[in-house]
Order: sequence, then C-alpha cells, then structure tokens
Amino acid sequence: MKATAELAEGVAIVTGGSRGIGLGIAAELARGGARVAVVARNADRAVEAAAGLDGDGHAAYSCDIADSRACRKTVAAVESRQGPVTVLVNNAGIARDNIVLRLRDEDWTRVIDTNLGGTFNMIRAVTRGMMKRRAGSIVNVTSVIGLMGNAGQANYAASKAGLHGLTKSVARELASRNIRCNAVAPGFIRTDMTAGLPEARVNELTGRIPAGRLGEPADVAGVVRFLAGPEAGYITGQIIAVDGGMAM
Ligand code: NAP
Repeated sequence: MKATAELAEGVAIVTGGSRGIGLGIAAELARGGARVAVVARNADRAVEAAAGLDGDGHAAYSCDIADSRACRKTVAAVESRQGPVTVLVNNAGIARDNIVLRLRDEDWTRVIDTNLGGTFNMIRAVTRGMMKRRAGSIVNVTSVIGLMGNAGQANYAASKAGLHGLTKSVARELASRNIRCNAVAPGFIRTDMTAGLPEARVNELTGRIPAGRLGEPADVAGVVRFLAGPEAGYITGQIIAVDGGMAM
C-alpha cells in the first residue's frame, strides 16, 4: 500500500484488532496515519497489539461488543483519550459451528449477539459524533459465507448476511451526513479462526478458490484501508468480496 498518510489526524476504532484479520487492519490503518483504538475482550493482547503498531497515539480498550453499554463507554473513552472517531472497523467476530439439528440456543444467540448485535452496538455508539461532525467511514467485516451460506454454519451465515442488510441500511440512512458504510466479505483467511481446520479440509477449500490459495490478513487490510480513506469517498453501501474469486 502507498506510503501516504491519507488517514492522518483521524482516529480509527478496530474491533477485534488484537489478532488475525483485525490486527492486519489495525497495522494498515496505522501505516495510513490513523491513531488506532484496538478493541477486544482480552486486555493484555489488545495492549500488546496497540504497542506494536507504527506511529504514535494508539491505545487499547477491553470491551465485549455484545454488551451495548460497554460499547457506549468504550467509544466515549476513545473520544476523550484519542479524539473524535473518524473510522470504525467492525471486525470482531466469532464462530460456533454445528449442523442445525445440533446447534444449541447459546451457539445461535452468542454468534448473532456478537457478530450482528456487536456491530450494531458499535455503529450506534459512534453515529451521534460522526453525524455532528458530518464525517465518518464505517467498514464491516462480513464473510463470503454470508453471501453463499455454508452447511454447519447457519448461525454464522445468518449473522454475516444480516450484516449485509445492516451495512446497506446504515449507508442509506447516513449518506446525506457524509458518513459512508461499506463491507468487506473475506473468503478463507489464515488466522486463529481457520487454524484448526484439518489439512484435508484446507486442500478441499483451496480447490474451490480460483486463486488457488487461502488469503492472508494483509489481503483484507489493504481493501479496508482503501474503503476507510478519502479515495473511496464516493463509495457507500457496497460489499466487496476479498476471497480469491470464491464467491463470483
Ligand atoms: P480471530 O483470529 O478469531 O480474531 C477475532 C478477534 O475478535 C480477536 O481480536 C478477538 O479478541 C475479537 N473478539 C471476539 N469476540 C469479541 C467480542 N465479543 N468483543 C470484542 N472483541 C471480540 O478471527 P479472524 O479470523 O481474524 O476474523 C476476524 C473477522 O473476520 C471476523 O468477523 C470473522 O468472522 C471474519 N472472517 C474471517 C475469515 C477467516 O477465514 N479467518 C473469513 C471470513 C470472515 P478477544 O478474543 O480478546 O475478544
């Protein structure tokens, strides 16, 4: 990505910024000049991630995004410590996989409450400030599974498909206030979330990806940086698959 600091003067919240795709996004936005707020449940890992980013002014916050009060408090803390939030990247997400017949109530609820509810909580928490300032960019990290569905991931697919509706509705609602909302839908990316997949499954998945490989967090991070920044100023309500061609 370019060495220009197109996000300079901005504060970017990255939920789930402590590892995996979120850490890749946090690093890329920091390289773009943003002061990053790393949000995750595990405080130590969030602090470590923030400390490793290029540049100054980054900070870490412990927050469960499924808790709407905690999201409000976190956004207030970011604004008082780091300044007005210009970019929100809703990346934190979880999976609790099983076939529908075996999905427990808590597997359904926890995934929907975190992936969909958590993103809504964070968007609502930043909206007032962004509306007052008439500026902001929101990027939601969804999944190709939200576009295609997947056996054994009904809860996860529903949460991610829900995010596509949320993204478009927020984009329509806030466009006149100069607030954009887009989504990236990654394919299979090498992180903790996919580390447990058996080799045979990885080989099978790779065979379904036209690019012939799994993605890396950096593949997603560059697109998020673009969507977050001024070069995407006329793009809103879009879902961009970053999946090596899997979901064409
Ligand atoms: P990951 O390695 O498991 O990391 C998840 C991150 O989210 C961690 O920083 C985690 O920190 C945080 N998190 C989880 N639950 C949270 C909560 N309730 N509140 C706040 N933070 C929370 O996951 P990943 O693979 O990087 O995935 C990141 C995003 O990309 C997810 O939304 C995922 O659905 C999506 N995605 C991933 C893939 C893939 O192949 N890896 C493909 C498509 C989409 P704590 O545990 O400390 O909270």
